Amino acid sequence: MRPNSLFTWFSSVRGIKGVGDARAKQLDKIALNVLRDLAWHFPVGVVDRSFSPPLSQVVNQSVITTCVTVDGHRAPQGKRRTYQVEAHNETGRLTLTYFHVQGDYLTKSLPVGSEVAVSGTVEWFGNQLTMPHPDYVLPAARVRELMIKEPVYSLTAGISNKVMRQMVEHALGKLNDLPEWHDEALLKREGWPTLNEAVACLHKPEEEQKHTKAKARLVYDELLANQLGMRLVRGQMQRYRGVVMKQDALAQQAEALLPYKLTDGQKDVLKEIAADMQSGERMLRLLQGDVGSGKTVVALLAMLRAVEAGYQAAMMAPTDIVARQHYHWASELLQPLGIVCGYLSGAAKAKNRKETLEKLASGEIQLLFGTHALFQEKVQFHKLGMVVVDEQHRFGVEQRLTLIEKGQADGFQPHVLLMSATPIPRSLTMAYFGDLDSSRLSEKPPGRQVIDTRAVPLSRYAEVVEGLGRAMAKGAQIYWVCPLVEESEKLDIAAVTARIKALEVAFPGQVAMVHGRVSAEEKQKAIARFAAGEKRILVATTVIEVGVNVPSATIMVIEHAERFGLAQLHQLRGRVGRGSEASSCILMYEDKAGETARERLKALRATDDGFAIAEEDLRLRGGGELLGTKQSGVPGFRFADMYQHREMMAMARDDAKLLLGRDPKLVSPRGQAIKALLYFFEYDKLLNYSFSG
Ligand code: ADP
Ligand code: MG
Repeated sequence: MRPNSLFTWFSSVRGIKGVGDARAKQLDKIALNVLRDLAWHFPVGVVDRSFSPPLSQVVNQSVITTCVTVDGHRAPQGKRRTYQVEAHNETGRLTLTYFHVQGDYLTKSLPVGSEVAVSGTVEWFGNQLTMPHPDYVLPAARVRELMIKEPVYSLTAGISNKVMRQMVEHALGKLNDLPEWHDEALLKREGWPTLNEAVACLHKPEEEQKHTKAKARLVYDELLANQLGMRLVRGQMQRYRGVVMKQDALAQQAEALLPYKLTDGQKDVLKEIAADMQSGERMLRLLQGDVGSGKTVVALLAMLRAVEAGYQAAMMAPTDIVARQHYHWASELLQPLGIVCGYLSGAAKAKNRKETLEKLASGEIQLLFGTHALFQEKVQFHKLGMVVVDEQHRFGVEQRLTLIEKGQADGFQPHVLLMSATPIPRSLTMAYFGDLDSSRLSEKPPGRQVIDTRAVPLSRYAEVVEGLGRAMAKGAQIYWVCPLVEESEKLDIAAVTARIKALEVAFPGQVAMVHGRVSAEEKQKAIARFAAGEKRILVATTVIEVGVNVPSATIMVIEHAERFGLAQLHQLRGRVGRGSEASSCILMYEDKAGETARERLKALRATDDGFAIAEEDLRLRGGGELLGTKQSGVPGFRFADMYQHREMMAMARDDAKLLLGRDPKLVSPRGQAIKALLYFFEYDKLLNYSFSG
């Protein structure tokens, strides 16, 4: 069913020269499976190799490219563990040094007397200039090939930047032009390139002046696909009537078993949900509420309405751990009521799994908890009446639909509750989720501890470090976040590296780090060491935003806080205060930061209501004082950012409406191209679903 034009784009990376099973497996670790994935695996930084200064004048730790004549080789000897290759040119001497040399590849690639081009980072040792492990060695005649701005990719173990570059180049060489899915007039007006041009130029740092338009085009592609997707889902949903579920005796009994009283906010949301479930229409509601706002219990009580009406209900969590937590909590709570809960995961043992599946098909299991494993073909419900998708933004529209389709086979449609832990402003909720009904939990359950939040200028770094030292002496664990500025990853890495060095001096052996240039495995290891308490400080770029949960960490330091979006700062702050210990957040800001920036930080100190913060963020963004692109911390998009691109989102919304209004089945030539767009962003399930009758 995939349009032919996309055949190559979706062909396996194995089609690339030099990519076999082993390499494909490595690529799979960072979700690079088909050529399209490689094509949009865009560089995260640049190394400028165009400098070729006289050797006697190079700056320590700079990257140079130069031609040298090889004078001789020295194998490791005695105390000296490195293999050294002596070389020179008319401007000075250079020693290439290597560790762990095996075999004779160096005598072959660097024969004495030959002239070679080398590129890499140089270091001065006294008056000896060295280049440890050159990044590139080529015959001197090819030096031009090296003197470029080299794109730097995020990598995984076993794949060097050089290899990644080659694979990307191969992939790009194979990719055919796609039928244009945008209006020609629009492309002209905006000055946007074709998709192929956009993708190719974003891999070329030297074409930087074209990047803004290329990015804009990709962002719009994604937003349009999303808006079309939302519209198709909605159209589909509205076609069905919902089962009327009126009784709430079970829910009330369960509520009485809770060790706490529901907050007014929770009660209000439950009322909204109850009204949906007995309206005769099918519910499609979004429940937004900060982490810890108590969404789970609301969902569970709603699920019990389905059970009481004789149906099953399922809750899908983003990870196995969360799913299992939900399951244990619910089975324990509901045991006195004789309600049968089940848990299904990808990791479950075959025997347990089979048993669970049988009980599910027979209807014995009334409430099912799990991850996306709930979507698998083999999972058959007896009578599914309600689906809760926890943290919906981690799943695509497509995945949500597959689950919902399960009910369809049985001839009725389950109610759907989507839950999101990322509060976003009302106007953006509208833009993103269209006419979806939405509820909000803004009040937090009582007894939550407040995170002591302070703003401190960067010039008081020394004081902050001193304070951290005192806290660490009492056992504190600390996150230290350095900002990521996409435009200049090189500077970021330099900043992160410098910070780590400085913190290492203050706290030797206590610092772990994660940033864009370390492999996925390294990241996992660093986080694990931090979680286990082996390392006391985790220095990171914003990556820790995604899925790190270390309850013993109590201090969050955010450097250059003025560069972050408020909503993002709020989410980062939410990483601490998860255990029983008092927690604090230190927002370090540039001394020269502008008025708006300070105002923003003030807003964050004033409240921890995620919705208020999100609205304030949106209001203050008018000034455009923010750096960076992906600021909202709302996942779900690859290229687009809900805040930054809100105008484009509105445009995409109108566009989608117009397109589907004119050609609801997407049969015109433009409609066909639009189908390719939907496939491109993997809304394909949706297509089958919406157009299959
Ligand atoms: P989230 O919205 O992030 O999913 P949870 O549902 O996990 O939040 O709730 C967070 C914690 O708050 C849980 O430990 C839960 O038991 C507790 N909780 C939920 N509602 C209340 C309430 N009304 N009073 C006190 N504690 C509550
Ligand atoms: Mg939750």
